[in-house]
Amino acid sequence: MEADMSDETQEPGRLRIPSCNCGCGLSEIHPEMLLLARLLTEEFAEILWTSGSRCEQHNEKEKGSKHSGHLPIWGTERNKTVALDGTLSPWNSQRVRRILFRAIQHGATGIGYYPRKRNPSFHIDRKPRLQLWKPGPAGRLRYFF
Ligand SMILES: [Zn+2]
Ligand SMILES: [Zn+2]
Repeated sequence: MEADMSDETQEPGRLRIPSCNCGCGLSEIHPEMLLLARLLTEEFAEILWTSGSRCEQHNEKEKGSKHSGHLPIWGTERNKTVALDGTLSPWNSQRVRRILFRAIQHGATGIGYYPRKRNPSFHIDRKPRLQLWKPGPAGRLRYFF
């Protein structure tokens, strides 16, 4: 199962966001995040979305925060997820920075930047507080821009 906002007038840039990567089928992405993903995918068609909603068990396995935007605890009914992970293949740091700046312009408040050698990725979310981070020698570096 995956979120699919495509229709015949919207090709290319079909929006594909996987449901929980443990295979449980959870896919409760907040409509604002789907819109954000749609806007980004229209402009940067090469984005590969790798993670959206996560169930609690899978979030623990991934060592995600208890307050992760990937968990279904956000939104008015507290059952929506507000975080997405994506990547580019091949990775292109300059391009990713452009994507992240655009995400902020479109209302993203959480930005994670992981330009690692294995499985580089980026994270965007809409939690209520502005946070920008990347992993570094001192742990999580905040406000890296
Ligand atoms: Zn799951
Ligand atoms: Zn994430």
